[in-house]
Amino acid sequence: MPMKPATPSSGKDETCAPSIPVSPAARMGDRLRRSRLMAGLSLRDLSDALGGEPSHTQIAKFEAGEVCPDSKQLARFSQVLQVRPDYFFRKDGLKLQTVEYRSHTKLGSKGRKRLEEQAYEFFERYLEIEQILGIATEPLQCADLSDKTVEELPAAIEDAAKNLREAWKLGMNPIPNVHVMLQTRGVKVKTLAHEDGFDGFSAFATDGDMSVPVIALSKRWLEEPDKDLPRFRFTAIHELAHLYLKFPESLSHKEKENWCHWFAGAFLVPSEPFEERFGVNRVKIALSELIAIKREWGMSVAAVMKRACNLKLVTPGRYKTYCIVANKQGWSTKEPGTWIGDEKSSRFEPLVLRALAQELITPSKAAGLLGISLPELGARYTPLD
Ligand SMILES: [Zn+2]
Repeated sequence: MPMKPATPSSGKDETCAPSIPVSPAARMGDRLRRSRLMAGLSLRDLSDALGGEPSHTQIAKFEAGEVCPDSKQLARFSQVLQVRPDYFFRKDGLKLQTVEYRSHTKLGSKGRKRLEEQAYEFFERYLEIEQILGIATEPLQCADLSDKTVEELPAAIEDAAKNLREAWKLGMNPIPNVHVMLQTRGVKVKTLAHEDGFDGFSAFATDGDMSVPVIALSKRWLEEPDKDLPRFRFTAIHELAHLYLKFPESLSHKEKENWCHWFAGAFLVPSEPFEERFGVNRVKIALSELIAIKREWGMSVAAVMKRACNLKLVTPGRYKTYCIVANKQGWSTKEPGTWIGDEKSSRFEPLVLRALAQELITPSKAAGLLGISLPELGARYTPLD
């Protein structure tokens, strides 16, 4: 399959960050606007939170770069918007080119913007610390399926999943921690507080020639009461598919979603070990078998059955019968079986502390990057003699 460096696909791209502001006032205004969006506040909400001073029209002028807020006003903005004062002075250049959203319809454009800004702010700090440490980000190779017919896509997607596993040296075994695996392969991942209608989104963070794949995911599946690690893993790889696969232009959004689901299944459990485990021409199936595959591979029972159908190990009719049973049993909300694994990942903070230990950055810069106070930094940072 042809592999080439990934570029954001045209057409559906949306730029999260605006073009590079030209003057310091414009840059600061742009930052103010984005921190306000990140907090989910309207101009009037922000003015109200500050007791009406400055007014919303005055804030609009700041954001437009027509007037610069003074240091006292900036300090108040920083307090209400919960960003460190240095946020307003950061050099700008990064853009998020959103590739795809999952379940964005319930979220609304305001909620979507807020999540994008939260993710943007994090990825900006993440890429800055990597630049300081001289860590080069591996470009994500792209699997170009744009010339494939619908009939050719299943085999092409199976191949694409295998090729990426091979390029990332993952072998054919279960992936112990998808979150860590992505981070160590150059895909930046940010988990965001749960909001109704948000599962995840994928984007390329671009700055000049640099194009870094980034994924934002809801924390919902990592935390009680909804904790569901197989679902978190599947969503993460579904988002990866949006970055890695270049689909034929003719596909609808729903069709792309289905092919990304297919890829997620193929990447999490490659066809050979799956067939070997599941067997062929299956009709009678025990739930305990599906639970055992879930426990071993960290993929839901529902996704295991879909995978079996995709690989023609069960007939579409058999799969449909399973779906009816699953629906009756309420398994779409709470599925049987568990996966005892870990999807925690912490790559960003150790990088900042490493740069501090190597004296590449000052303590106040480290605190700014971590979004914490200097005393908090002191509690987390213990230099060795
Ligand atoms: Zn999607």
